[in-house]
Order: sequence, then structure tokens, then C-alpha cells
Amino acid sequence: MDKEIKTTEKEIRLVEDFDLIFDFYKLVNRQGPGSIEITKLALNFIPGLPVSSKIADIGCGTGGQTITLAENTSGHITAIDLSEKFIEILDKNVKQAGFEDRFTNLIGSMEDLPFSDNELDLMWAEGSIYHIGFEKGLREWHQYLKPGGYIAVSEVSWITKERPQEIEEFWVLNYDGIDTIPNKVAAMQNAGYIPIAHFVLPVNCWLENFYDLVEVAVDPFLKQQNNSEEAKQFIESQLTEINLYKKYKHYYSYVFYIGQKIG
Ligand code: SAM
Repeated sequence: MDKEIKTTEKEIRLVEDFDLIFDFYKLVNRQGPGSIEITKLALNFIPGLPVSSKIADIGCGTGGQTITLAENTSGHITAIDLSEKFIEILDKNVKQAGFEDRFTNLIGSMEDLPFSDNELDLMWAEGSIYHIGFEKGLREWHQYLKPGGYIAVSEVSWITKERPQEIEEFWVLNYDGIDTIPNKVAAMQNAGYIPIAHFVLPVNCWLENFYDLVEVAVDPFLKQQNNSEEAKQFIESQLTEINLYKKYKHYYSYVFYIGQKIG
């Protein structure tokens, strides 16, 4: 894992130590911006899922969206994440909600999914497709969907045509796949989907539902990590991201993109 951290005045790179990321974010209910209402809103654009539908929740984390998916669909959900720690928590949440008969939880990579061609009715990736890359993920996962099947992903996107240099540099350095909504919609179309809908996540998905909870987890995490330098640097990078969001929230957001495999 990349443990190099650069924080010059011009360059603010987020810490990419997966061990720290997993240990910190298991303390938070969700690992990215979102809400129950937003998951349900995205689902509303996906009509007529068969009763015995097959659904994949990719990069599920501890299940920010997973229980909502289960409550509002029928059929079987395979939830996949790279983190064993997140999957353990998800497993508990699924059992607590009484959905274990409808679930398979897998520790695995979105770059090597265990599905057959034309198997799935719905692929869901909330705040996670950036790990493989938006267009690459859409192209590679296309084979697993049945013709006419749906994909719903949320992805950080520019919501204005132009933006201040400071925030442009931060995001390009940390996720150079960030792009405008029209370019993301075009990428979805180029990858073989009908772009059915897209919508911008509101500010409460970032602040009340995510960053506020992240801030609450800071002290317990640092205590757990014995205030190690790595942990402090990691937290500093997370707080930088939060402060930049508060300053520049009118220029970018997560956007939900819903597409249908042509078929
Ligand atoms: N969907 C959850 C949510 O919205 O709360 C989690 C979003 S979090 C920003 C991204 C998730 O992707 C993390 O749970 C992380 O462990 C997972 N992840 C990262 N790389 C992955 C990979 N190659 N394969 C599967 N999951 C991955």
C-alpha cells in the first residue's frame, strides 16, 4: 500500500493506507456521502425488477446502502468489499435486519468479480466505482448484467463548468477521474448503457450523514491508535478533505448515475 504522504502548500494528497482507512471507517456508519432517501430515489428509476432478481452491491463497505437495497427489492444480494473488517460489520447488520437468507457477503475485488455473463439484474456501487475508475468499471461490469439490466453508481463529479484552482488541483491529484456531469453521462453511454437518469446528492448527504460522523470518530480512533504519527497524518488528511468540501461544496458533489444495459 502507498504510505507516502505529501502535504506541501500546493499539493494535498490524501493518505492511501488501506489498513488505516479500514480501521477508521469501521467506526463510521457509512464510508461515503449518501442517505437512505437517496438510495431509494436512485432505486425509483429502476422499475420492474423481477421478484427473484440477482443484485450485486459492489464496494458495499459496512452496508451504508445495503439494508435499504434489501428492504426495497426482492431476490438475492451479493455484497462485495475488499475489507474483511467492513464485511464482518455488514454481516452483523444483515443478520440483525433478518435478511441473511437473501445475502451472500464476499471479501473480494471489484476488479475480479465472481459473476457469470448476463447473470445480474442490477449492479449497485455507491461511492466505490472510483476505485476501479468510472468508465473502466462500467465497461468491465457490463458483461455481468442481463440485457435490459440496470447499473446504479455514485461518483464524485464537477457540478459547474468551471471551478477555483485550489479545488481543481486537490481533486485531480487525488482522483483524476473526476469530470463534469455531461462527460460522465457520455462515458456511461460509450460503455454500452442507456443513461436513464442522474442526480446530484444534496449537501446533507456529505455533512450530516457523513462528515459529521467522521469528525465524531476522530478522537476514539486516535486513542485506539495510541496517537501514532501515521494515524495523526491520516486524520489530518481526512479533515483537509472535509474543510475543502465546506469551502467548495458548490463546485462538486457525488452524483448518482443510473444506466440500463442495451438489450
Ligand atoms: N458503499 C459504501 C458507502 O457508500 O458507505 C462504501 C463506500 S467507500 C467510499 C468505498 C468502498 O470500496 C470501501 O468500503 C472500500 O473498502 C471498497 N473498496 C476499495 N477498493 C475495492 C476493490 N478493489 N474491490 C472491492 N471493494 C473495494
